[in-house]
Parts: sequence; structure tokens; C-alpha cells
Amino acid sequence: MELVIKNLHAKIDNKEILKGVDLTIHTGEMHAIMGPNGTGKSTLSAVIMGNPKYIVTEGSITLDGEDLLSMSVDERSRKGIFLAMQYPNEITGITNSDFIKAAMQARLGENEHVSLFKFIKEMDKAVKDLKMNPDLPHRYINEGFSGGEKKRNEILQMKMLKPHFAILDEIDSGLDVDALKIVGENINGMQSDNFASLIITHYQRLLDYIDVSNVHIMVNGKIVKSGGKELITKVDNEGYDWIKVELGIVDESTNKKEAIILGSCAVNKGAK
Ligand code: ADP
Ligand code: MG
Repeated sequence: MELVIKNLHAKIDNKEILKGVDLTIHTGEMHAIMGPNGTGKSTLSAVIMGNPKYIVTEGSITLDGEDLLSMSVDERSRKGIFLAMQYPNEITGITNSDFIKAAMQARLGENEHVSLFKFIKEMDKAVKDLKMNPDLPHRYINEGFSGGEKKRNEILQMKMLKPHFAILDEIDSGLDVDALKIVGENINGMQSDNFASLIITHYQRLLDYIDVSNVHIMVNGKIVKSGGKELITKVDNEGYDWIKVELGIVDESTNKKEAIILGSCAVNKGAK
């Protein structure tokens, strides 16, 4: 399958955040997006999933040639798009396991049913794989979960729902070193010809556990550079200033191109 994003522009509250994103993802690939804070990474994931707060003003997203932007969130989910949110919501009154079962059921035809036996077996295995507390699936969704438990819970949903395109927005934030390894290995374990991921992260750490095939750097609402794993190391060592300098991007927060060039120059910094 193929997810194609072309010249995507999107705004919120009349502020343009995405300014022409181009990105193509095939199942079988593992993509990572890195980029400074406030650059539009969460906005991109929200627009792919169909969050109505964001208005697409230009461009397209297609899934195997079908217009994704005209589909409801439900339809997108049934087509195999999955989003692990940066800040997962708490939902009182619905247990994790009921929620996952209902979501699995929604993917089946009218006369098909999720086998309870298979469901319980798979859920038990996923909980063990993620080294989660066994009572978490039976508690209300994310209610009273620690930051790390919420993140693991997103991965639990992904493992159970087996999406074709999983967007993981800062799934590593709030995870300790052990949890990071568990989450990373479980994401990597999803790799198949029917699965693609779009991993949004700031740090190399999570990506140490994942065989990433494509790396993209997003700055000011656009993907400005794409490559392989070597980009991860470069960003980890040098941050993002070099890209801004290379591409002559004006930093919107200071509006001074000069400031970026000086800021990235160790000699100048030291001389001050
Ligand atoms: P990232 O995930 O890359 O850190 P986001 O996509 O969350 O960035 O945010 C991109 C930009 O959109 C930020 O500058 C943020 O302040 C801005 N933004 C988000 N929500 C709103 C809003 N409701 N009104 C105006 N600007 C917003
Ligand atoms: Mg974000």
C-alpha cells in the first residue's frame, strides 16, 4: 500500500502551520520524522488522521490513489491508519480491552466477529511483550496511567489493531531507558510487508532499536531533507541549525537569518 502526501498546506485558527509537505510512504518501510519544536510534526499527524481542528487549504493525501482527506476519522482507521498521540486522552467508563475489542470489531464485516478466545490470547501476549502491568487492559483508558504507561498503552493498541500505517507521535517522551527499549523493540517487531510506520521523535535513542529505512527532517512546516539513518546521527550530534544554514531558512522565532548562522558557529559563540 502507498500513502502519498503532496504539497500539503494546513492551518489552525487561521495560522498556516503546514506549508507544502511532500511525503510518500510504502508499506514495508519504517520512516522517521525529526524536527525542532513547533515545526508542525504533530499537526501533520493530526491532519493525516483527520482531526477536524485543522483545515487543509491546499494539496492532497491519498491512500492507494483514494482521497484520504474526504474520509471520516473512522474510515481512515478502518483503512488501516493509526495514530499514537503525543498526549493520549483519558477516557473514563470504557476499559482498554473493551475499546480495543470494539475497534477490532469495527474492522470486520457484519457477519464476522472477533473471537473472544483469540482476543484474550493475543492481548495477554501483547501485554507480556510490552512488560505492562497485567491489570492495565482492564482499567479505564489511560485513567490514572503514568506518562510511560500511556505510551505503552498506545503501542498495545497498535499491536492489537495491526494497522498498515502507524503514526507514532513522540512515543518516546516520558519513557525511561528500559521502557524505551521495550517500546522500540515492539515497534521494530511490527515490520512486515503490510506495515509502515511514521515515527516522530527528537532523539536518536528510540531509533537505536528500530531499523529505520527513511529519515526526514521537518522545519517550518515542510520536509526539508530526506535520507537514511545517517541523518539521525547528524541531528543528534549537531541539532538542526546546519540545515537551516544549508537551506538559508529564516528562523521564524527570531526572524533573523544572521542569528542562526552566528548561533551555529562555535567560534563566534566562544568569542562572546
Ligand atoms: P511540533 O509537533 O512539531 O512540535 P505542532 O504541530 O504541535 O509542532 O505545532 C506547530 C505550530 O502550530 C506551533 O507553532 C504551535 O504553536 C502552533 N499551533 C498549534 N495549535 C495552535 C492553535 N490552536 N492556534 C495557533 N497556533 C497553534
Ligand atoms: Mg509535537
